[in-house]
Amino acid sequence: MCGIVGYTGPRDATPILLDGLRRLEYRGYDSAGIAILQADGIIAIRKNEGKLQKLVDNLNGSAPRGTLGLGHTRWATHGAPNDTNAHPHTDCAGRIAVVHNGIIENYAELREDLRAQGHKFATETDTEVLAHLIEEELQALSPQGRGQVRGDTNPHPSPLPQREKGQALALTSAVQRALKKVRGTYGIGVIDLQNPELLIGARHFSPLIVGIGDGENFIASDIPALLPHTKRVLLIEDGEIAALTREAVHLYTLDGVEVEREPFEVNWDVQAAEKGGYPHFFLKEIHEQPAALANALRGRVDERGAHLDELDALDLARVNRVLLLACGSSFNAGLIGKRVIEEWVRVPAEAIIASEFRYASPVIDDRTLAILITQSGETADTLASMRLAKSAGAQTLALTNTIGSSITRGATAVVNLHVGPEIGVVASKTFSAQALLLELIALDWAQRRGTLDAARVAEIARQMAELPDRVEAAMGLDHQMRALAEKIWTRRSIFFFGRGFGYPTALEGALKLKEISYLHAEGYPAGELKHGPIAMLDPEIPVIAIATHSAALDKVVSNIQEVRARSAPVIALTTEGDASTGAQHIAQLAQDVIYLPRVAEEFAPVVAVVPLQLLAYYVALKRGCDVDQPRNLAKSVTVE
Ligand code: GLU
Repeated sequence: MCGIVGYTGPRDATPILLDGLRRLEYRGYDSAGIAILQADGIIAIRKNEGKLQKLVDNLNGSAPRGTLGLGHTRWATHGAPNDTNAHPHTDCAGRIAVVHNGIIENYAELREDLRAQGHKFATETDTEVLAHLIEEELQALSPQGRGQVRGDTNPHPSPLPQREKGQALALTSAVQRALKKVRGTYGIGVIDLQNPELLIGARHFSPLIVGIGDGENFIASDIPALLPHTKRVLLIEDGEIAALTREAVHLYTLDGVEVEREPFEVNWDVQAAEKGGYPHFFLKEIHEQPAALANALRGRVDERGAHLDELDALDLARVNRVLLLACGSSFNAGLIGKRVIEEWVRVPAEAIIASEFRYASPVIDDRTLAILITQSGETADTLASMRLAKSAGAQTLALTNTIGSSITRGATAVVNLHVGPEIGVVASKTFSAQALLLELIALDWAQRRGTLDAARVAEIARQMAELPDRVEAAMGLDHQMRALAEKIWTRRSIFFFGRGFGYPTALEGALKLKEISYLHAEGYPAGELKHGPIAMLDPEIPVIAIATHSAALDKVVSNIQEVRARSAPVIALTTEGDASTGAQHIAQLAQDVIYLPRVAEEFAPVVAVVPLQLLAYYVALKRGCDVDQPRNLAKSVTVE
């Protein structure tokens, strides 16, 4: 995920771009850069790794001047977050500058082809292929090719003289043709030395909008970047390209067919818009989960199964024991990973809290695989656990949301979540993505090891691909969870319990509630309650039972009965359309029943966590807590 801004108009572009980037910095801050078409006929690029402020400081006194430009704040996916890989990227001749948000999945093959045609690459990014592809297409179109491309029949913005019109047409066509060769996701901005007024934007599964000003126009990843200049917004749909001059905006399909669309007025204030219209980042990130999970799966699963090339770096055939090492929500995800690895791969696996592991005397050798799970990639205890595991000869696999973070540097293999930055301090989309990615790892490994037959692999893969839609359906529980929060927010304690995959779900539900609402909560394996904690229960302490469809559902029903016998109220999370006797019992026993979309029990935590996140959110609001920055917490725990 990254932030893009583009400007064409009469004003000096640099301050407009820098201000826009500041408003988009929540989207990524690995590096920042601008490209400005200067009056001296050069596209000046200024970029550096690190936050936007560093770029601003570096520009001090030497900022390029021009009235057409692009800005980018990066959240690296391909290539380390360094100066070179920072956007904008250029073609061989320095004629084209490109900024990009997303992933070009077929970049490796495109790069090979372009190299074979003589193009020189300067960075490790997937993005750079776009600049060279456009260069290549421009060459193909010019001079003889120009105007002979199918779909080139659209007139360009009228204020341009005839010759420039032809050039603008060529650039637009070249971008269209280049994008047709690309697989993956993109929001892009393009400028060209030969087109001093023309700003091109295009999108496919990454956000990009047009801002319509008075004698000036903009592109941006999100509305906040536009708000100081205009509230008139034109949407670009997936598979469309926008050609902007100062006076006009034209939208086309990639086949060159012009699209008519009316702009609309936004009435957001800048502050709220930075959270995409949500009052809190946590709520925004809960709602982002369907798209985030789809992104995490993109290019990694199809009807034949999982394809995680990242695992190629490991010698999996050697592994006879797996340790999943993590803290907090990542540990809860690790418990899910443990179960699927044992179930599908048939290798013994254990989830261990990293701060405990690092000071224990774990029995590890070169047949151990340590999976390190950390959203930030900087969690001190997890990093120390990696060092310990490595020193004993183990292979290491890092699962993180932060490319280039410390955990990625030392690990044998790295799997990235690809869910974009999580700004709310409390984990939401990164937890569900960690759980899902551990399942993807387990599926891929099971395929390599031959522990699942092809039909079962295909079935799991199909369910995995459908999971984002099920998570979306679970968002519909918002109202019910808000009403439930009204009921329970004054209670002194809440218990969560579940069995199997329901147990980590219970832990995560309790952790969310503690973290953001400061209401005491405990997560337990359902069968364990009677070994102690049941003594706590009374009519004032609600018990949230994770009772979704599973092989162990009847046992959970018995545990609910035990709780009801102590008069504790039960809130049950169960599966929509489950006609089993157990599910029917639950409907009779529980005071409140939350019906979740049906998924296989391995995937139930990813769906069930949604209402629990929403519950924690609404309880926190009732209790007047600071949802995005809970007391005593920090997003990435880099100290012991
Ligand atoms: N894939 C591109 C890169 O790694 C763009 C990342 C982004 O969306 O910021 O540079």
